[in-house]
Amino acid sequence: MNHNVIIIGGGASALMLASLLPKKSTAIIESNAKIGAKILVSGGGKCNITNAKMGTEYFLADKCFILPSLKMFTQEDLLHWLREQNLKPVLRKDTQYFCQNTAKELVDIFAKKVKKQKIFLDEKVLSVCKRDILFTVTTNKRSLSAKYVVVASGGLSFSRLGASSIGYDIAVSFGHSIVKTSPALVGFTVQAEQFFFKTLSGVSTNVKITVDNMVCEGALLFTHRGISGPAVLDASLYWQKGKIKIDFLPDFSWKHIQNSKKQISSLLPLPKRITKAFLVQLGLEDKPFYQITSAELDKLQLLHQYIFAPAGTFGYTKAEVTKGGVSTDEVDAQTMMSKKVEGLYFTGEVLDVTGRLGGYNFQWAFSSAYTCFRNLKGKIEEI
Ligand SMILES: Cc1cc2nc3c(=O)[nH]c(=O)nc-3n(C[C@H](O)[C@H](O)[C@H](O)COP(=O)(O)OP(=O)(O)OC[C@H]3O[C@@H](n4cnc5c(N)ncnc54)[C@H](O)[C@@H]3O)c2cc1C
Repeated sequence: MNHNVIIIGGGASALMLASLLPKKSTAIIESNAKIGAKILVSGGGKCNITNAKMGTEYFLADKCFILPSLKMFTQEDLLHWLREQNLKPVLRKDTQYFCQNTAKELVDIFAKKVKKQKIFLDEKVLSVCKRDILFTVTTNKRSLSAKYVVVASGGLSFSRLGASSIGYDIAVSFGHSIVKTSPALVGFTVQAEQFFFKTLSGVSTNVKITVDNMVCEGALLFTHRGISGPAVLDASLYWQKGKIKIDFLPDFSWKHIQNSKKQISSLLPLPKRITKAFLVQLGLEDKPFYQITSAELDKLQLLHQYIFAPAGTFGYTKAEVTKGGVSTDEVDAQTMMSKKVEGLYFTGEVLDVTGRLGGYNFQWAFSSAYTCFRNLKGKIEEI
């Protein structure tokens, strides 16, 4: 069966692209039984669509590669497009835009937009090859051909929602290089010296984490496996291996409390359980603050710069995204087309582009889809 465009994957990037392309021009192949599975669970079920603060600094990527797409389809363009579809994004946490009630609002919009495209659900792409100007996409059910193939199959995170390595396999089969992948926006497991973290499971506090010269601020949540929460997830984006520094008392100064008669655990702006656990670790007694010696105060400074090496991460099963991916050196930033194979495109998370927490990954999925659309549109009209 011949199609103008075949899109591999039925996630965020694929759905935006198929929504923009002319009706009946496109076939979507999705291994799940439904489209947009990841959108539905994203942002705690409300989908953090984008962020009012947008810029290349919020991404781990080649800035020159992502800038044209972020400019071509900005967060404002996205919000405008969504409003035109009657979705009214709600601003939360200062800068983050979410669906009003549930992420299904967004998936329903896409479902309506793509209903005239051919959608193959429950169908797994196995390989892609090209002869002359035509690609053949082989699935577990059939072979399809098209002049243009868009790989929008995402990364390796959350395999229970359909994630697979197919995008990388296809890229490699066409001579592309893959930047080493690893789980990102994910919690850290800890080594024996930090096992006491586990006793704090369920407790959270605001921190500043420094990793690889990047500072990530926000909540840290202790869990039974280690640490998680927004600041930790962001930090995981920049973590290779090695040490991180956590300031458990950001913006706090000891000066104003020096003569206080209150117990240390009552005085510090931390949940008492955390202070008490650290006091035990430091071999300090919980006592009125004015009684502590300068040597003890030195020890307490550790709360400002707790340095340790995480054991690892919670892995792909818990990671919101995959960092690394198809090398952007070999993809044209103005079109998303492969520089090696005419007619082969890559969009979204399959590329070596990863955003911080806060709607950046969806914005990239949509912006890169738009860039691809702009290029494909003219070509499809030529057919
Ligand atoms: C729990 C969770 C919460 C998240 N929350 C947010 C958030 O609030 N904001 C944000 O910006 N980002 C969030 N993300 C990240 C965001 O979901 C992704 O970055 C984004 O979905 C990437 O879009 P994509 O289209 O490139 O890939 P995906 O959305 O992953 O879509 C790829 C599709 O390809 C399909 N596929 C894979 N292999 C095959 C195959 N062999 N054959 C056919 N189909 C295949 C998959 O089933 C999948 O549907 C979250 C991720 C997770 C896991």
